[in-house]
Amino acid sequence: LDSLAAVDSSVPAPRRQQDRTRAPEPGPEEFANTPDTDPSLPANRGWGRDILSRVPGSDLGRELVSASRVVTEEQLDELLNGAVAAQENWAALGGTGRAEILHRAGDILEARRAQLLEVMAAEAGKTLDQGDPEVSEAIDFARYYAERARELDAVDGARFHPARLTLVTPPWNFPVAIPAGSTLAALAAGSSVILKPAGPAARCGAVLAEALWEAGVPRDVLRFVQLGESELGRELISHPAVDRVILTGAYETAELFRSFRPDLELLAETSGKNAIVVTPSADFDLAARDVAASAFGHAGQKCSAASLVILVGSVAESRRFHHQLLDAVQSLVVGQPEDPRTQMGPVIEPAAGKLLRGLTELGAGETWVLQPQKLDAEGRLWSPGIRAGVQPGSEFHLTEYFGPVLGVMRADTLQDAVRLQNQVDYGLTAGLHSLDPEEIHWWTGAVEAGNLYVNRGITGAIVRRQPFGGWKKSSVGAGTKAGGPNYLLGLGSWSTAPSTA
Ligand code: GLU
Repeated sequence: LDSLAAVDSSVPAPRRQQDRTRAPEPGPEEFANTPDTDPSLPANRGWGRDILSRVPGSDLGRELVSASRVVTEEQLDELLNGAVAAQENWAALGGTGRAEILHRAGDILEARRAQLLEVMAAEAGKTLDQGDPEVSEAIDFARYYAERARELDAVDGARFHPARLTLVTPPWNFPVAIPAGSTLAALAAGSSVILKPAGPAARCGAVLAEALWEAGVPRDVLRFVQLGESELGRELISHPAVDRVILTGAYETAELFRSFRPDLELLAETSGKNAIVVTPSADFDLAARDVAASAFGHAGQKCSAASLVILVGSVAESRRFHHQLLDAVQSLVVGQPEDPRTQMGPVIEPAAGKLLRGLTELGAGETWVLQPQKLDAEGRLWSPGIRAGVQPGSEFHLTEYFGPVLGVMRADTLQDAVRLQNQVDYGLTAGLHSLDPEEIHWWTGAVEAGNLYVNRGITGAIVRRQPFGGWKKSSVGAGTKAGGPNYLLGLGSWSTAPSTA
């Protein structure tokens, strides 16, 4: 069911218009996706400009981050044991009691939308158009998991026993939606949570934690901790009080966690190396637009991003497709997130190592169609790059780079294109642009990835409509999808009543 739900059609979703200057409506009981801010409404443009004007010099979350630093093992013990002790009362609220608090969390996240956008831009380089759907997603997680929590109470003859303490270790690229999703899922299941944000996005995590406390999640049930650079990391993962870890990050991080603790109950959404295939039957204008948006949204720093486009047959020679793609990419305005003209912001950490190689070095047979230019001294601002001639089995074909560079490959047939997609060790997202129903049908059955997208971009999964999560090396552990109907089930165990027959 999860994977069926992940196949989207080309029909764009209806989005209600929202004027952000008006007070938010209270959260509905029955789940509906939260609308994004409509930037065409004049009131919302003013609202957005106000947020951006606060971004330079924004201080949101800073105090909590410094107050939450844990430096000794004793402090860590005390914190974790306190969270375990508090869990019983949290679980005793039942799914229905917890759902009420989670719905309130949804309302409070909505009321704090401007604050969340400010801290995401200030700390994590998110432009408003990238940050806004992320806040909507966080709200969706609150309301959707609230409803799933109610269901846990309603299973006849069986009882759900949540993990007592779940450790949440999110990444910095979706600094609100991902920590929100993991934390809210564990809370909904009845677990206590230790939220340890990614270092470069700690302030975003702090504002999120404050919102959840304000909603009524007890401070002992949700603990926010900040560790210094990798100090106490091993102790935290291996601590006997921690009985589940939800990780979103690199595959290597999941392996590292497992090396600390081989029996770790780990739910990990890990790396991706994702491609969009374009066949001769595609709508080239649409395909070029979607490839550009999927490759360069948030400067390519998404697990779901398109890092490759695979051109099938005559598309490789199509001047029209090439022009459309080049125009779409070259016209992207690169800059700081507080500048309202910016369409592509900075990379969050100065490009180094693998990413720097991806932005500056070519592999055998490759040429720059558009060579990335470094636009600042630090190496955080780069113009988008396109490299052609990426060879099957080469480093660029198989490696995740996580930055603003797209590789072009060619394939004689759709079958060959899928072979290139499946040759990658990961299996997170995959895209096809084709208007041929037979091609679409065949491709959706043959490609090895968790989230499939046809005739649209391949980023921006939406709670319930496109639950998110991959196969192969893109997933470690339970493999249920975030924002899908079964996610909470990975966060505990069931017992059934003794049979009386
Ligand atoms: N859920 C996000 C999306 O669909 C990607 C999350 C990630 O990069 O980890 O675009």
